Amino acid sequence: MKIQLLPSSFDADGSATAAQRLTCFILDNRVTVDAGSIGIALTDAQRRTVRDVIVTHPHMDHIASLPIFVDDLFGELQEPIRIHATAAVIDLLKQDVFNDTVYPKFHELTNHHGHVMQFVPFETGRPFQVAHLTVTAIPVNHIVPTVGLIVSDRETTVAFSSDTAETAEFWEAVNHVPQLHALFIEASFPDSMEKLAQASKHLTPSMLKKELGKLNHNGMDILAVHLKAGYREKIAAELSQLGIKKLSVMDTGRVYEW
Ligand SMILES: [Zn+2]
Ligand SMILES: [Zn+2]
Repeated sequence: MKIQLLPSSFDADGSATAAQRLTCFILDNRVTVDAGSIGIALTDAQRRTVRDVIVTHPHMDHIASLPIFVDDLFGELQEPIRIHATAAVIDLLKQDVFNDTVYPKFHELTNHHGHVMQFVPFETGRPFQVAHLTVTAIPVNHIVPTVGLIVSDRETTVAFSSDTAETAEFWEAVNHVPQLHALFIEASFPDSMEKLAQASKHLTPSMLKKELGKLNHNGMDILAVHLKAGYREKIAAELSQLGIKKLSVMDTGRVYEW
């Protein structure tokens, strides 16, 4: 499985920087997990192949350019962009984003091939299929309805914490997976900002370490993501001081393969 965290910050000359301000992972150039930078950072080839988007929760950094992505492709789509999310998240996207005020109700619009965008609800705790991937969504502990994801292509299984503070059910589900190849876990704030992390339901490096203690798996790659851009170096230093094997900060733009 190939996984890339799309860049979301760019220098004045257009080159991508390491800072992660938006969240969008692309899996096998076909499916994305969240859509923060989907409308600004895909290659033309990826824009032609991505037709399934899984939205973990409706925070702006996870959906910011989703409307732009659909808008760009409006005239040429031969099948709808499928937005996979819980019913609660779909309701929020309809209410707050695709509402004919912020942006058109794309789920009600068609081009000459048919619908351009379709909401596909999933239930938590039950595996569902997205393209070639089997996905299980588990609620995590965030400010709005949010799911973590376990994603498998039969040979490789990876897990995404999404945005969360300390949580339990997600780790129990991950512990049931026979083999875990990679874990993408958030680390939003440095340890000195734990109060804010708790209030906004995110993790610091110390909190992340406690979460990993709930995990039975060993030896998988652990990639820290969602580091607030202004504290990126500080958080990265604190993560490396944890001394956890195979834990690193995920590089934006780099294609990882398992
Ligand atoms: Zn969030
Ligand atoms: Zn976020």
